[in-house]
Amino acid sequence: MTDQNDQLTEPRPRRIVVVGAGVVGVCCALYLRRDGHHVTLVDRMSPGEGCSFGNAGLLARSSIAPMANPETFSKIPGWLIKSDGPLSIRWSYLPELTPWLLRFVQAGFRNKVDETAKALHTLTDPCVDLYKDLAQQAGRPELVRQSDYLQVYRTEKNFRHAACDFDMRRGFGFQIDEINQADIQTYEPALSNEYTHGYRIADHGYTVDPEALVKALAKMFEKEGGVVKKADVLSFDVNDNKPDKVVTDAGTIACDTVVVAAGAFSKKMASELGTKVPLDTERGYHVTAHDPGIEIKRPIMEGDAKFLVTPMAMGIRFAGTVELGGIIAPPNPKRIENIEDKAKRMFPEIKLTETSSWMGFRPSIPDSLPVIGPSSEMENVYFAFGHQHVGITSGPQTGRIISDYVSDRLSNSGVNAFRCDRF
Ligand SMILES: Cc1cc2nc3c(=O)[nH]c(=O)nc-3n(C[C@H](O)[C@H](O)[C@H](O)COP(=O)(O)OP(=O)(O)OC[C@H]3O[C@@H](n4cnc5c(N)ncnc54)[C@H](O)[C@@H]3O)c2cc1C
Repeated sequence: MTDQNDQLTEPRPRRIVVVGAGVVGVCCALYLRRDGHHVTLVDRMSPGEGCSFGNAGLLARSSIAPMANPETFSKIPGWLIKSDGPLSIRWSYLPELTPWLLRFVQAGFRNKVDETAKALHTLTDPCVDLYKDLAQQAGRPELVRQSDYLQVYRTEKNFRHAACDFDMRRGFGFQIDEINQADIQTYEPALSNEYTHGYRIADHGYTVDPEALVKALAKMFEKEGGVVKKADVLSFDVNDNKPDKVVTDAGTIACDTVVVAAGAFSKKMASELGTKVPLDTERGYHVTAHDPGIEIKRPIMEGDAKFLVTPMAMGIRFAGTVELGGIIAPPNPKRIENIEDKAKRMFPEIKLTETSSWMGFRPSIPDSLPVIGPSSEMENVYFAFGHQHVGITSGPQTGRIISDYVSDRLSNSGVNAFRCDRF
């Protein structure tokens, strides 16, 4: 048969550069490689050392309520007044942040909330099964655990306030039970008995080490023939409206397709490739207690202060809160102290003698949806960033969507909500 016929039945493998080796980039690279493409994954750090390093590791199947919603809006003034509240703004960053904030408010109208939840559900729902398979294939099944998780409250007011979110989740088929003080003590005896109300959410999961999980997936990608390159991506050479070289501080990489998966740093890259996106960052913090002297059995969300507590391989990790302050300013040590204070109140017996702390940049789009899909401006350019609070959860599904787009076999119109031309 002729070459022409071969092309009709079997498209030629592409030379693809994926920029960013966080959970999203690694998953894109892996699934693209499994489709037979020549894939180079480029990051200025080793895989899994950006925002994917220090998160709470929850495989948050049911986290489908967008951050921008009427319930959140009613809480924001109270959060901002408190110096140790779950949300803070670096006021010097406000002028730059204002367009993002305006879009955030716009996105919170009720009709958009339902649409957004539906779209997020397509991303988050399959996470536990996908990760169990991937971790097994990577030879590290112990990194992923299936479990329920708890959301606990000291105040009945906040518990009732969350009812709307949980009703929405129930509408998508999630099993959620209300629990009282006695139930909470039975599930997690180390918790303070100040917690009087809560929800138990069934059929979730978590990773005991997000960094190790991303590194294991990257290693599997290499074993399957992919290339991992440590380099800072500086720019792109574009010819005939297609990228044909990625320029890095360690030389150029010839390519015919680029996937931008650089997390909170994707805005400038997308812009260089002709697409403007309203991407900013919600900075988050963690404190890990390495010798906590207590045990917990499952992830727990502190519902009043809005952070997650996860039993991890290296200790108990307290992770969360939102600081709107851009990608330049250094971490604020006060946020770390606040988490430690709250950890002590939550678990009166905890030891915080050996701890480590961290800040990461959640890549966030004001409508709470990531950007996933092809560029509308340039051929052979795809975007996969903006996964805000659920990037670990949605990494594998994002990788599958991108590989479906590249191989032209996408059948799920539900993913149109993520396209970059929605702004
Ligand atoms: C405190 C906290 C708790 C969280 N908890 C959870 C949770 O429990 N569950 C959940 O699902 N999600 C959680 N998240 C969110 C999740 O961590 C992120 O959504 C996810 O890690 C984003 O992944 P990413 O691959 O898009 O970005 P990243 O992991 O940041 O990866 C982007 C990569 O791009 C690279 N890069 C950037 N610019 C360049 C360049 N010019 N050249 C080369 N490389 C470049 C960076 O070095 C980086 O490695 C949490 C986040 C925080 C901050």
